Amino acid sequence: MTRALVIGGGIGGLTTALWLHRVGVEVTVFEAVPGVKPLGVGINLLPHTTKVLHQLGLQNRLEATVILTRELRYHSKDGKTIWVEPRACWRCDRESRAGALRHD
Ligand SMILES: Cc1cc2nc3c(=O)[nH]c(=O)nc-3n(C[C@H](O)[C@H](O)[C@H](O)COP(=O)(O)OP(=O)(O)OC[C@H]3O[C@@H](n4cnc5c(N)ncnc54)[C@H](O)[C@@H]3O)c2cc1C
Repeated sequence: MTRALVIGGGIGGLTTALWLHRVGVEVTVFEAVPGVKPLGVGINLLPHTTKVLHQLGLQNRLEATVILTRELRYHSKDGKTIWVEPRACWRCDRESRAGALRHD
């Protein structure tokens, strides 16, 4: 069996490890920090990201957690609206939906 070492268990390293595992490679991930800690914020998932996560078979786990993005809004520090752009993709395929992954 082919073996691989992945250095770094961030989203890039873990996604690479899952793909290698799927194609039959024995993977070991090395991570410098002792554990994963939330930063206290959500993470915005763009369509190219959700597509890869769907391809990895994670769609049900993703959809149980994600909030679909309806709009992109930029505000100044005093709350004034600078830019609003609809981002809803309700009619597109499930794979291409952008969303925000909740921290909780
Ligand atoms: C505040 C903030 C908000 C963000 N928000 C978003 C967002 O909403 N949407 C989005 O798409 N992106 C967002 N990003 C960007 C996104 O987080 C990064 O692009 C992504 O995490 C990069 O992933 P990565 O796996 O390449 O690197 P990293 O996440 O940096 O992972 C690298 C890992 O390698 C480990 N490492 C390094 N050196 C070694 C070593 N020698 N041995 C072992 N382990 C090692 C590190 O500890 C780390 O865990 C945000 C970034 C920040 C900082």
